[in-house]
Amino acid sequence: MRYRDLGTTGLSVSVLGFGASTLGNVFGKVGASSGERAVRHSVDCGINLFDVSPYYGITQAEQRLGGALEGLRHGVVLATKCGRYGLKEFDFSARGVTDRFEDSLRRLRTDYVDLLQVHDIEFGDIQQIISETLPALRRLQEQGKARFVGITGYWPNVLTHVARLEPVDTILNYCHANLMMNDMDRALTPFVRESGVGLLNASPMHMGLLVGIDIPEWHPAPKNVKLAAAKVVAICHYAGVAPSAVALNACLSHPVAASTLVGMSSEAQVDENCAALDFQPSEELIRVLNETIAPIFNTTWPQGRPEN
Ligand code: NAD
Repeated sequence: MRYRDLGTTGLSVSVLGFGASTLGNVFGKVGASSGERAVRHSVDCGINLFDVSPYYGITQAEQRLGGALEGLRHGVVLATKCGRYGLKEFDFSARGVTDRFEDSLRRLRTDYVDLLQVHDIEFGDIQQIISETLPALRRLQEQGKARFVGITGYWPNVLTHVARLEPVDTILNYCHANLMMNDMDRALTPFVRESGVGLLNASPMHMGLLVGIDIPEWHPAPKNVKLAAAKVVAICHYAGVAPSAVALNACLSHPVAASTLVGMSSEAQVDENCAALDFQPSEELIRVLNETIAPIFNTTWPQGRPEN
């Protein structure tokens, strides 16, 4: 495993991070023991960053991650979130995030997290997040309940805008720097370089599209993106390579992201993704894939409040 500094936090994180949304059955049912074994096997493989949220499986992922990390907690960097609690349930108030964070700690079986992030800020009132939510998280930091504070979301420009106005330690952006997209570099990457904020790049598989699973109903990508992803998967299979390895390869070379967060649900996926660290697709395969993706490259979808 390789490690990088998470901005200026002093934390050293594995370049491959474990995204625990899978433990909330977000992409389909994951057996309790399979999920737990995947977590513990990740630790054995040197993965030390685990990211979860009360939203994933509506508290189930936190519950299961907490159980799986029993006895391993102090060797890992544990990140959770606050503010998003359901598909349409948000509460970014100081009172809400503070009170509900206590429940997260209980589920995670710990008395502190390494990183507490405001989840999906584009769904909130940006002014409230700046003047109320983030200061509440800083108070939790002062109390020793969160070592660092961050924000997460879909739009790189919204994340950059907020971080310029109210300092954060980390930013998590998803589905914006992978095989299907590369538009972090307009606003977010330069800001991360100049500010020293830690950057987490999430969803290398474009939230499952690039591994050929049955696409969950909630997946917001437009149909042409889903069709192009299915072609990518077919081309990789025809070439005899794992689409997940090709997708990860596109992320691992990101110039400033400390870690790529990938959702995993089995020991086999953990092994396959760790092996992808040393995988290099052929130039011919990359050329064919780029041609396939070109018509939909950088396609986004509506996410969050229109004014954001
Ligand atoms: P992803 O792109 O990582 O895809 C996950 C899917 O790919 C799962 O179905 C998983 O089982 C499958 N997969 C992974 N490796 C595989 C392999 N080798 N072979 C076959 N299938 C494989 O999407 P994601 O889970 O949404 O993103 C990763 C993590 O990033 C999340 O779990 C979460 O922690 C974080 N994230 C955060 C936000 C946010 O804060 N707003 C948004 C998206 C993701």
